[in-house]
Amino acid sequence: MHLNGAMSEGRGLILVAEDEPAIADIERLYLSQAGYGVHVERDGAAGLAAIRSLRPVAVILDVGLPSMDGIEICRALRESGDWTPVIFVTARDDEVDRILGLELGADDYLAKPFSPRELVARVRGILRRQEGPPTSAPSTLDGVTLDPGRRLVTSNGRDVALTSTEFDLLAKLMSAPGHVLSREQLLSSVWGQVDYGSGRTVDVHVAQLRAKLGNPNPIRTVRGVGYSAGS
Ligand code: CA
Repeated sequence: MHLNGAMSEGRGLILVAEDEPAIADIERLYLSQAGYGVHVERDGAAGLAAIRSLRPVAVILDVGLPSMDGIEICRALRESGDWTPVIFVTARDDEVDRILGLELGADDYLAKPFSPRELVARVRGILRRQEGPPTSAPSTLDGVTLDPGRRLVTSNGRDVALTSTEFDLLAKLMSAPGHVLSREQLLSSVWGQVDYGSGRTVDVHVAQLRAKLGNPNPIRTVRGVGYSAGS
């Protein structure tokens, strides 16, 4: 257990679950330089316990960890209603497929080797989006109500728990009803400047969002172009 730097600075505490000391050290270094407090755990079960006791503002999860892997940690958090933003760090491409396919409610992922600056950019991006734009009034479309100020979504009268990425995607679409947004526009507006190279990330998150919202919901696929909310 490494407690130095665990006292959160102004930007909040980030919990890192990573069993490779060299990678954990780099993550700690760059995140602390960016003004975050950092707490590192090398073991999965200890990581989950630390997330629950320390309540970090975001979690960076290595997939392969002793005692409990990153996927199990994320699933345990989501099942207990904990929607702390999670960024997965993966060692192999097939791990990315697994994370996306399992609909774990991950907010983002980075493949090893990654640039530490990129990691910091992703963390900043997620936390900035969570703070959100100046609050606007709740809006309702096709049975779905989104409250940007409280970051709450209800679908047909039922509360829906969304990841911060899913929330921002829905908020972006609902901010301009009937306006078609391309995958590239959604990537740049929801995920930031990062070049993901593919619209597949958008498609996967839209599919998860639709599954959570149920029917009816306002999201329309505009074939060959992208997505819109409402017709
Ligand atoms: Ca590992």
